[in-house]
Amino acid sequence: MNAIVSAFRPSSGLLTAKRTAAELSEPYSTPPIPLFEIAAEQGASIIFADFGQHSSVVAGFCDFENAKIYVNNDDIWPRKMFTAAHELGHWVLHRRLFEEDPQKYAVLPRHQVGKVNSLEQEANAFAAELLVPRKLLEPVKHAGAVQLASIFGVSRQMMEIRLKNV
Ligand SMILES: [Zn+2]
Repeated sequence: MNAIVSAFRPSSGLLTAKRTAAELSEPYSTPPIPLFEIAAEQGASIIFADFGQHSSVVAGFCDFENAKIYVNNDDIWPRKMFTAAHELGHWVLHRRLFEEDPQKYAVLPRHQVGKVNSLEQEANAFAAELLVPRKLLEPVKHAGAVQLASIFGVSRQMMEIRLKNV
C-alpha cells in the first residue's frame, strides 16, 4: 500500500519548502526578515567568507557536519541574503538526505547555467518565501519593485519575480 501511495504521490517538495519557510517567518511582522536569527534558531550559523580562488564561481555552500553556512563575501548584500536563505533551505529541508548521500549536494554557483534540479528549486522557493513572505508582501504589493526590494533587503530581480507570484 505504502509503496503504491508513494509511487503516485505528486511532487510536494515545493509546497513543503514554501510552507516551512512561511512557518519560520511567521513570528515577524515587518521586513527585513532576520535571517541570522532564524538560522541560529535552526541550529546553523551564517558566515561571510573570502572564497579565494573560488570567489568568482561559488556563491555559497553549507557545511552540514559543522552546521555552518558559508556565503561569498564578495557578493552584494541582497545576493548574500539570497545565498544564505537558499543554503538555509537545504539545511532545514534536505539535511538528512545530503548526510546520507553527500553526492546529491551541490554548492550554489554564482551564475546558474541551465535548469536546476528539484532540490535546488525547493531551496530557491524556500529562500523566496522566507525573505519575502507572502503574508508581508500582499498588503504592500502595489508599491514599486525597487522600493520593496530595498525594504525586504532582496534584489530587484527577486522582488519582480516574487511580485508576479503574489
Ligand atoms: Zn542549492
